[in-house]
Amino acid sequence: MGHTKLHVELLRYTPRPEEVVAMGAKLCYSPANINDLKDGIESKDQAGFVDKLVSMGHMSPVEHVSFSFGVEGISRACSHQIVRHRVASYSQQSQRYVGEQTAKHEGGIFDFVIPPTVVDAGKGKWFEEKMAVIQEWYDELNTALGDLGEKTQEDARFLLPNAAETKIVITMNARELLHFFRVRCCNRAQWEIRFMAEEMLRKVKEAAPKLFTNAGPGCVNAKCPEGKMTCGKQDEVREKFLSM
Ligand SMILES: Cc1cc2nc3c(=O)[nH]c(=O)nc-3n(C[C@H](O)[C@H](O)[C@H](O)COP(=O)(O)OP(=O)(O)OC[C@H]3O[C@@H](n4cnc5c(N)ncnc54)[C@H](O)[C@@H]3O)c2cc1C
Repeated sequence: MGHTKLHVELLRYTPRPEEVVAMGAKLCYSPANINDLKDGIESKDQAGFVDKLVSMGHMSPVEHVSFSFGVEGISRACSHQIVRHRVASYSQQSQRYVGEQTAKHEGGIFDFVIPPTVVDAGKGKWFEEKMAVIQEWYDELNTALGDLGEKTQEDARFLLPNAAETKIVITMNARELLHFFRVRCCNRAQWEIRFMAEEMLRKVKEAAPKLFTNAGPGCVNAKCPEGKMTCGKQDEVREKFLSM
């Protein structure tokens, strides 16, 4: 409770992702039938081919592979930003079905995320006290609503803050992931989704290194796309992501 406990797990992904991408791409250019193509692909390492494909921007084959992540220890503020990405699938813990009553929590308060800046500003304890007050409001409203009918949690949750912790399963194909990393690994993205995106990137780089060789914020492969809003740290950022 009370501090960031970001946990990102790569749950499952399309087996042999680079071969699947190579299959989609080679089919576009070859007169061969599926089985011959498949044999050819399986007999040779596809890393170089996939690398070339992504650099060329031939992206539709990259959509054939998907990655599913389990994420916990993030705030509802963060998950709200995640789900703005539409080319993806999500399953998020429900605040209707999973209540936040005092009795359900060790320490008596719902789980929440404190932004590091709040702690740095000496406001960590103060922030926790405010969460405890919200917990009291939640319990009070939940009990009051209980006297009226059954749907107590679904309306008591209106009192919960953006800081409330959540859990979410995310599935994205590799093309969407490359886009997601471009905008969410950027220093201009909010810190929490940026930390999460970096963790996701680390995991997919292990699973499909060639597919994600140049993945990261927009400035990793080109001039910073942020214009006047640039963080001005392109060299440092590029170095960080290319050596990840
Ligand atoms: C730094 C930062 C600040 C932000 N600030 C705000 C803010 O103040 N307010 C706010 O509301 N949002 C904000 N956003 C969210 C942003 O506007 C997008 O909603 C979010 O990043 C999802 O990205 P997306 O729409 O590119 O892509 P996705 O939904 O991930 O889709 C991927 C791509 O598919 C294409 N696509 C998807 N759907 C459509 C469609 N319907 N029509 C055409 N093409 C489509 C687009 O090319 C899109 O880039 C911010 C995002 C960032 C990174």
